Amino acid sequence: MIQPPLINVSGLCKEFRGGIRALNDINLSVNRGEVVVILGPSGSGKSTLIRCINGLEETTSGEIKVEGKSLAGNSERKWRNHRLEVGMVFQNYALFPHLNVIKNITLAPLRAGVLKKEEAVQEARRLLELVGLAAKENSPVASLSGGQQQRIAICRALAMKPKAILFDEPTSALDPEMVGEVLSVMRRLADEGVTMICVTHEMGFAKSAADRIVFMDKGEIVEEAPPQKFFSAPESDRSRRFLDLIS
Ligand code: ADP
Ligand code: MG
Repeated sequence: MIQPPLINVSGLCKEFRGGIRALNDINLSVNRGEVVVILGPSGSGKSTLIRCINGLEETTSGEIKVEGKSLAGNSERKWRNHRLEVGMVFQNYALFPHLNVIKNITLAPLRAGVLKKEEAVQEARRLLELVGLAAKENSPVASLSGGQQQRIAICRALAMKPKAILFDEPTSALDPEMVGEVLSVMRRLADEGVTMICVTHEMGFAKSAADRIVFMDKGEIVEEAPPQKFFSAPESDRSRRFLDLIS
């Protein structure tokens, strides 16, 4: 039997109040283990798209399916579940500043009741090891650098064993010397087969880690291509103009 894509977006439109059309007929399929990088100029709808996929933004029309199941008509409880299954990492980390590192990571699995305290702590330690922050488990998050906080935010998303992780410009708020440590964690997840949708302006990461580039402009997907093709021979004028501006 053919498995449905992990995430399937069809005919998605999003209009904000005041008639701003942020997304116009978006169609996008993401398979298990795929790394999709979304590129596009500011205001092209990248954040809105992944926020819709995560259920942080109501859609105006169209459909989003996860493993073939539509999210339409989800109850609050189902949305909460969905947000745990499809994790999200934001530009500004969005950690709980008053909690220490290990509590930030274990909070969601404990609240959801999917792990017992001991298991949750063990899993958190494994993840901290993975991102090179084992020594920080008892530190208040506010005492950490931006790069460290973002690595903790990635651990927090991973702690729920999500089906996919959505990244919204995870390195844009970081000082340049911290960008690399976060990208290397993301690259490692990509290598391990974690399904990821990443909005980023890091072209090195896009070129080396993406299975597919999705280029957006003015609320639409203008072009989809493997990175080798997109960066060397983009098909649309808009992609070419974008690449000229950033190179
Ligand atoms: P990107 O992430 O590509 O920079 P966004 O998804 O943030 O783009 O924004 C797409 C469009 O939607 C922009 O015109 C933006 O001004 C508008 N927009 C985004 N969020 C809101 C909102 N909460 N209310 C009204 N307009 C919004
Ligand atoms: Mg954005």
